[in-house]
Amino acid sequence: MPRLGVLGWPVEHSRSPAIHNAAFAALGMDDWRYQLLPVPPVLFTETARALGRSGFLGANVTIPHKRDALMLADRASEAASAIGAANTLSFAPDGTIAAENTDAPGLIAALQCSPRAMRALVLGAGGSARAAAWALRHAGASDVLVWNRTFERAEDLARDLGVRAVREPEPADLLVNCTSVGLHPRASAGEELDELGLSFAAVGEYAYVVDLVYGAGPTRLLAAAGEHGARTLDGVEILVAQGALSFELWTGRSAPVGAMRSAARDESAPA
Ligand code: NAP
Repeated sequence: MPRLGVLGWPVEHSRSPAIHNAAFAALGMDDWRYQLLPVPPVLFTETARALGRSGFLGANVTIPHKRDALMLADRASEAASAIGAANTLSFAPDGTIAAENTDAPGLIAALQCSPRAMRALVLGAGGSARAAAWALRHAGASDVLVWNRTFERAEDLARDLGVRAVREPEPADLLVNCTSVGLHPRASAGEELDELGLSFAAVGEYAYVVDLVYGAGPTRLLAAAGEHGARTLDGVEILVAQGALSFELWTGRSAPVGAMRSAARDESAPA
């Protein structure tokens, strides 16, 4: 029975088992299973190495292990190495481990338009912001700006990835929220936008607004963007897109994206 899973701590909230098991069902891959793999940081490297020897073909990796996943791998893709984090591990029969980052191409695939020649503003400087900034720059965005609550982290990211840190959010064609603001809704929309350095009026400066955060409905940021008539994309679409790329890497089959999206949306109420 081919096994896959998601390594994280905590990981109980992850939608990945629902998404991948729906894909197996849609393709009649009846003996395939994808499971939660809750592993604390102190056990991560040892456990990930053991998975290959116990029949696992691969694993997704989520908070807080993405950097350690890159470190333990024997081989890493250009994207994973440049970003400094991996979300997908593949275990080869010879015991070696390959690391990939599908968060970056997943964002670009989910956009459904090329960011080439666009000016893009990334909010945040954590793991997903690094993947987004690298992906947008690599896909030809003309200017990638990074704003973060803690400016020094934006400066570190900008230095590592060849993008530009800004002290205040600046107008752009594309806005990508990679902070965790919106995950735990505040009392008011204004409070939440303020945490992102924005106001309702300022959200109107962006033609396309993407939020990696997802829950039962649109985040306050996406609701404000919608009121301004902007194009919007929610975090479920990005989750599905990165999952589809991991699925194709492990199975060699085209991912049934519709089935994966339905499973993700069925489960997208906050855990
Ligand atoms: P992370 O590495 O922990 O980074 C968190 C970021 O959020 C940091 O930039 C942090 O700023 C900022 N932040 C946290 N609380 C804030 C607040 N109250 N006000 C302003 N900024 C705040 O997390 P991550 O892995 O990048 O993930 C970020 C979010 O994206 C999470 O909600 C995660 O669930 C979501 N995500 C979604 C997908 C998807 O497929 N849809 C994939 C990955 C992540 P400081 O540096 O100042 O602390």
